[in-house]
Amino acid sequence: MIHEKSIAEIVAARGTGDLSAAEVTAHFQRRIEQFAGGLNSLITRCDEAARHQAGSIGSDAPGALAGIPIVHKDIFCTKGVKTSCGSRMLDNFIAPYDATAVEKLAAAGTVMLGKANMDEFAMGSSNENSFYGPVKNPWNTAYVPGGSSGGSAAAVAAGLAPAATGTDTGGSIRQPAALCGVTGIKPTYGRVSRYGMIAFASSLDQGGCFARSAEDCAAVLGAMAGFDPRDSTSVNREVPDYSAALTGDIKGLKIGLPAEYFAAGLQPASRAVIDKAIAELEALGAEIVEIGLPHTDLAVSTYYVVAPAEASSNLARFDGVRYGYRCDNPVNLEDLYTRSRGEGFGKEVQRRIMIGAYVLSAGYYDAYYLKAQKTRRLIARDFGQAFEQVDLIAAPVTQAPAFKLGEMGDDPVSMYLNDVYTLPASLAGIPGMSVPAGFVDGLPVGLQLLAPWFEEARLLNAGHAFQQVTDWHRQRPEGFE
Ligand code: GLN
Repeated sequence: MIHEKSIAEIVAARGTGDLSAAEVTAHFQRRIEQFAGGLNSLITRCDEAARHQAGSIGSDAPGALAGIPIVHKDIFCTKGVKTSCGSRMLDNFIAPYDATAVEKLAAAGTVMLGKANMDEFAMGSSNENSFYGPVKNPWNTAYVPGGSSGGSAAAVAAGLAPAATGTDTGGSIRQPAALCGVTGIKPTYGRVSRYGMIAFASSLDQGGCFARSAEDCAAVLGAMAGFDPRDSTSVNREVPDYSAALTGDIKGLKIGLPAEYFAAGLQPASRAVIDKAIAELEALGAEIVEIGLPHTDLAVSTYYVVAPAEASSNLARFDGVRYGYRCDNPVNLEDLYTRSRGEGFGKEVQRRIMIGAYVLSAGYYDAYYLKAQKTRRLIARDFGQAFEQVDLIAAPVTQAPAFKLGEMGDDPVSMYLNDVYTLPASLAGIPGMSVPAGFVDGLPVGLQLLAPWFEEARLLNAGHAFQQVTDWHRQRPEGFE
């Protein structure tokens, strides 16, 4: 079956003429037809354009990903195609240009099958905040897929595409990858251009990808990473050949286990899965060391000040005047602003805008925003010090597997607390990855790997080594084989 092949296998089969790009795309389109509706994983399908594009890719097409179908998170601008960011505000928005990441992936030969569902403006950990309704977890459709890139993760898990893009501001690639049993990587802040990626919290937002294996992620990340003069935070540093770095050899690698990530809160059954995964890494020759990241407990409060502050500023542009949703029959300018924003934004987005405006306001700026900037520095310094001792960090991604849709109800604070293991790496800007490590009650558990700034190759190689001796990443949810 085509959806069981790796990206390299599909590319090779097309090169020899055993498979055409058109056949590959048609295969995944059939799966989308069959499954995407039930999972609610896509907001927009690009059937006609994809068929047309795939038809033009011959067996001799250049490009590392020529003929590989892909789904883009609906946060990435795609020229001529609706780009909603999961919001009613942008339900009518057709992007006039492509995001750099989209452009680079297209140049590498990928075929865009559609746009993935997501939490509105990437705010959420369960994908229940989308204007288009929640995404369902293919492993059990009564459960959440994680968020905010839940549509992308569910699409890869269900075999609707070999790869998908995502963004991670505080965990939105690693967490849904973990809960859906796929591999996901968030590179170093500045590695993938944010140009054309709708801004949530600009100092944290980072694009990355989902695929089934570290090997597939290496190919996709290699194509989307790199300096972009159109993004002032993009880093001008050569992109190594990630695929060539996959030796599978991690002998002598020092891997740190942060005590704070294994403390109370981590569900025992999930912990057992992580412990076993760490034993596998040790058996591969890695040296396991206990480390401390002492400011971990400040991460949730720091993030939930910094991210809303930046969001409140970024979302000021959606005013009903220039583009996006506009209310009916405004009576004056103020009515136009307030009703357009009140009707166009969902509840969680409004909550963040209020928190952000509050922590940035004259009387509270020093007490909240400035303080958060300082604690953010401490969290980043923890990682700097840890990486003087170890080459990689291994930890859980979440405290427990996926929870039931609706289970968190209207309890934003519990939802925020869920992000405790993913937020620190985002605040520090270091690269992170989730690899499938096992199951608890039929639901996937992810192992989180973190590396020093710009060491994505080390991360991918460790994930690859793990996947050489385990087959968690090859499992498919029942009904999606
Ligand atoms: N769950 C976090 C939030 O809601 C992170 C989201 C993200 O990474 N986009 O802000």
